[in-house]
Amino acid sequence: MLFTIYSTLARKKEIFTPQNAPHVGMYVCGPTVYGDPHLGHARSAITFDLLFRYLAFLGYKVRYVRNITDVGHLENDSDYGDDKLLKKARLEQLEPMEIAKYYTDRYHDMMDALNVRRPSIEPNASGHIMEQIDMVQQILDAGFAYIVNGSVYFDVIKYNQQYRYGQLSGRVVEDLLSSTRDNLEGQEEKRNSVDFALWKKAQPEHIMRWRSPWSEGFPGWHLECSAMGRKYLGDKFDIHGGGMDLLFPHHESEIAQSQIANGDTPCQYWMHNNMITVNGQKMGKSLGNSIMLDEFFTGSHPLLAQAYTPMTVRFFILQAHYRSTLDFSNDALQAAEKGLKRLMQAVKTLNNLQPSATDDNNIIKNIETECYDALNDDLNSPIAISQLFEAVRIINSVADKKEKLNANDIERLKKLFHNVAFDILGLKDEQSGNQNELLNNLVKMIVDLRQQSKEKKDWETSDNIRKQLTELGITVKDTKDGTEWVV
Ligand code: ZN
Repeated sequence: MLFTIYSTLARKKEIFTPQNAPHVGMYVCGPTVYGDPHLGHARSAITFDLLFRYLAFLGYKVRYVRNITDVGHLENDSDYGDDKLLKKARLEQLEPMEIAKYYTDRYHDMMDALNVRRPSIEPNASGHIMEQIDMVQQILDAGFAYIVNGSVYFDVIKYNQQYRYGQLSGRVVEDLLSSTRDNLEGQEEKRNSVDFALWKKAQPEHIMRWRSPWSEGFPGWHLECSAMGRKYLGDKFDIHGGGMDLLFPHHESEIAQSQIANGDTPCQYWMHNNMITVNGQKMGKSLGNSIMLDEFFTGSHPLLAQAYTPMTVRFFILQAHYRSTLDFSNDALQAAEKGLKRLMQAVKTLNNLQPSATDDNNIIKNIETECYDALNDDLNSPIAISQLFEAVRIINSVADKKEKLNANDIERLKKLFHNVAFDILGLKDEQSGNQNELLNNLVKMIVDLRQQSKEKKDWETSDNIRKQLTELGITVKDTKDGTEWVV
């Protein structure tokens, strides 16, 4: 069965004190660092960033662990797939760790640009070989693994007799046995095709290798998350997340490993973000439709009609529910760009709204409730965003003097945007960061020049500056505390 965060945890809305704040442990499968991050990486990181931010907003103390896979390997459907990190290292004549470091930095840069908060702990698989060897030994001691030629395999058939292999993904071992490919290197060592490697003996050309009781080799791919999750979050923690593509066999195998080594499944809730498609097709390097994040930011991919800012990409991703597939198109991204601009413009308008002496507007309270209800309902970000747009409509209508709001409602709206748009959804006004600061400095410089001409009683220049600023839409007002202006 597929657990989601749907019911209990995120439905709580209480704000806790630092003393009684409950702790939440959350583990998310991070990137394999042999290449640049693409849109799929952004979706996973933003989905769990939203959860991280929301739980923190609700008052939970969250320990968020997201790993870096730097032990090379592997394709999802194979224990033996190409060691991509290794291939790249050979190709570029670099140490594998140089590649891992380079792409870890690239990943961090892109995620920072997307305003994704860094996790509390970011462990590397290569830094936790001892923990992984310990876990393999425990599984061997329990009788659920076997050694062949220095490699160790998990015995799925034996496991499945006592526990169900397939409980998360709904797969059935008997079906898997008949459908699993058996043409992969090393498959002949396994008792059954569904078994997976816990430890692989390294071939002579393999650079990344560690000593173990069984051979000089490297850990199986599923093992790192089980070992590092246990180390930092305990035998059983609250939430385990990752992309839908990791559901099987990665997370299914993690369950089996933890069940034997820890005596229990690893977590209370599993949470998976869905995939991104391009014109309904899966995104993939081989299909030529896999767009890297830096290509989005520079517009340098043939499928892109223009460059898109990191916030546009973030907003585009948040406009879909994390469990739905999200189809990429320039139209959708351009709509996101426009929508985000409208939202940010409304925040500026809101800051300049004049309150009226009128009754509280019930719609504002409603919008607030609906926003948080949506987030409590399995992080329904698209509904929360649509509620923000309802607020935008009212803000613009008040600015156009078609509706009125009192000071209380204006404050309520400001708080809503601060909490939901900025704090929880993690949106930023990209314009205000750079351009507004520059604009402010420029206007201040011009207003200072006008002040100097006034002091010299050069009324012609000072009036002229004022007139020209007015023509540009900048209103200058002289008060007893100095000169003020409104853009
Ligand atoms: Zn993982």
